[in-house]
Amino acid sequence: MLKFSQIKLPKFNKKSAIIAASIVLVLLFVIAIFRSMPSKITLLEYDNFLQAGAIQNAIIDGDSVIIKALNRSYIIPKEMISLSELGQRVAVESSGDGGLIWVILILMLLAVVAFVVIKFTPLIKVAKKPQEKSESANLLESVSNQITPVVSDISFNDVAGIKDVKSELIEIVDFLKNPTKYSNLGIKMPKGVLMVGPPGVGKTLIAKAVAGEANVPFFYQSGANFVQIYAGMGAKRVRELFSMAKTYAPSIIFIDEIDAVGKARGGNRSDEREATLNQLLTEMDGFLSSSGVVVIAATNKIEMMDEALLRSGRFDRRIFVGMPDISDRNDILSIYLQGKRHSVDIGFVARSTTGFSGAALATLVNEAAINALRNGREIINNDDFKAVENRVIDGKKHLHSLSQNEKQIQAIYQSAKALMAEFCGINFNQISLLNDKFGASDTFLSSKSDLLGLIKVHLAGICAMNLITGELYTNSKNDIKIAKNIARELVMEYGMGDRIMPSDDETRELLERIRSEVNGLIDKMRSEIDALAKFLLENELASRADVIMIIQRINNG
Ligand code: ADP
Repeated sequence: MLKFSQIKLPKFNKKSAIIAASIVLVLLFVIAIFRSMPSKITLLEYDNFLQAGAIQNAIIDGDSVIIKALNRSYIIPKEMISLSELGQRVAVESSGDGGLIWVILILMLLAVVAFVVIKFTPLIKVAKKPQEKSESANLLESVSNQITPVVSDISFNDVAGIKDVKSELIEIVDFLKNPTKYSNLGIKMPKGVLMVGPPGVGKTLIAKAVAGEANVPFFYQSGANFVQIYAGMGAKRVRELFSMAKTYAPSIIFIDEIDAVGKARGGNRSDEREATLNQLLTEMDGFLSSSGVVVIAATNKIEMMDEALLRSGRFDRRIFVGMPDISDRNDILSIYLQGKRHSVDIGFVARSTTGFSGAALATLVNEAAINALRNGREIINNDDFKAVENRVIDGKKHLHSLSQNEKQIQAIYQSAKALMAEFCGINFNQISLLNDKFGASDTFLSSKSDLLGLIKVHLAGICAMNLITGELYTNSKNDIKIAKNIARELVMEYGMGDRIMPSDDETRELLERIRSEVNGLIDKMRSEIDALAKFLLENELASRADVIMIIQRINNG
């Protein structure tokens, strides 16, 4: 029978084992002390021991006598007994230290207890799986004055997919493990790593995995809290955070939603946010990369970030974490189905969950397991996934999963862009139904031909929709914006238009001219677009090599 406990298996935590062992040790210690503490006896009992010859030794301790009989200690007031009579039976020692020994033992016990409490209190909190804490508990913890690190038991194995991200972070892990190795060689590590990506793709999880792999404490703070909760104290909080992290170094500071603090200044200014941001900048500049503190920040709105935060020496390393592609989704689903009895076609579920983030997939698996349980089944099957898919999507409106029709539209739209890029010599690595990235990101200069090519790429989708389906869709919004921006800059700022003193009309004319050119090109590319769209529908993803292969296949008949 499938049990609820199987749905989320609590992990075995190394730290909880240490705490449990310490508690057992303290208990044993207490029992040992109580067992060896002398118990009071009456004169009658004493006499019985004396007459039976059961007394093994005796120690005078101030006004009392401690005797050992039948392997236990007893205490009796000195004036109640005859010391000379006792002396005839056993050796009577005089010890003024007896009390002192007890005092020392008790002090030692207190020291052990205090050590365990101080050292492991934060760990006890973490052992309760931080990500499952209720929101109010999170809030309570964050408003409490104490900044405490958590110790992460998450490793890279718990993060599915995103191989490139992991390989970028391995170096940071090594640095946190051996900061001196790097400082000895004079190697400066980046102080800050900025993770950029939509919500739920695992940015926090990745940061925790870095801490877990390096086995260093992890300080979590949400950018929004600085501004909303610590009203008037954001800057102070930042200062305390860094000072605490340095005390615990090597350590990781993780600032979630950093854009809340580092929102571009201007517009609706907030003194509070500005003070917090300035403090953050001061702290980032003030600590040495050799101090062993690495700041990892996450945002899904890099375009909203204050430029000062992005300036060199602060968040020098940027890591883009995208929505999981089909193979990532496969891995994520496998992780969450591990240890559960199922007959699920993981490949099928992965294919039908385009647009699901890692967080949504985790929820989906959990809901499917609950569905199986509700229907009295021990094994989770494909139907459980079908039954709950819509619920997960409805519950998370921002995750838009694509219908078959939407997939077809996206496939044509994206294919047209990729083929246009290949035709115009615009660089790209891969395209998917939802994502693409065109143009070299690391060049210093762009030529007029590059810019014209980019405009053609961003107009290709809308032109293809018009020509092939006779309908237009809202998916063109972003591309049109980019095309307009490039055209405006080309004409107005770079002087690449017909006139040095251009007008808006010239930008408009340029865009219209390019649009008709693109229409002509798209018309000639229809067989390639059809073939690539079919490939994208099946694989959801096409590398540049796939695109070239499809072009060659069509051209060779
Ligand atoms: P973000 O910080 O990007 O908003 P989180 O790290 O908070 O996302 O992800 C939320 C949850 O989603 C994680 O705790 C985990 O359960 C799941 N998750 C997201 N991405 C992945 C992934 N790549 N592998 C495994 N689980 C993931």
